[in-house]
Amino acid sequence: MKYCPACGQPVERRVPPGDNLPRAVCTACGTIHYENPRIVVGCVPEWQGRILLCQRAIAPRRGFWTTPAGFFEIGETLQNAAARESLEEALIRVQIGSLLAITHVLHAAQVHVTFRARMLDGEFGVGAETLQAGLYDEREIPWEQIAFPSISFALRCYFEDRRAARESLHFSDVDRPL
Ligand code: ZN
Repeated sequence: MKYCPACGQPVERRVPPGDNLPRAVCTACGTIHYENPRIVVGCVPEWQGRILLCQRAIAPRRGFWTTPAGFFEIGETLQNAAARESLEEALIRVQIGSLLAITHVLHAAQVHVTFRARMLDGEFGVGAETLQAGLYDEREIPWEQIAFPSISFALRCYFEDRRAARESLHFSDVDRPL
């Protein structure tokens, strides 16, 4: 942040009184602009044992594969957001299940939250942010072509838990750019 969203004047980074971290503070109106990690939410949609993957039509990682996920919006629940992203990216209707994985993406200041999900039918399509979509068996997953480490992590945990007939919650941290 270079300019104050409230008044348009330059901001400077300094530690406000009583705080312990540098913040973007407006040089004109004095507003302190707190910057916190953003939440990316998605799910692993399953239909008859296979997993729905989308090939990304947008940057970053265009052409790579992912499960449906995107930025959490104000006014949503995490589950609603995961279902909305599934509809937008692959035109699928899902029932959101248990929480599967949380990845702290430290370098990008993001938290990636992934749920298990069941597709309500086998129908899928291609949303505006997707080149193509499809249903894949575990052994067909293009592991080298998965867009983000948080998605690979969630998928690996998903299959591991499914084999063991359990639904655990898994955490991981990523601290490197792609
Ligand atoms: Zn200002």
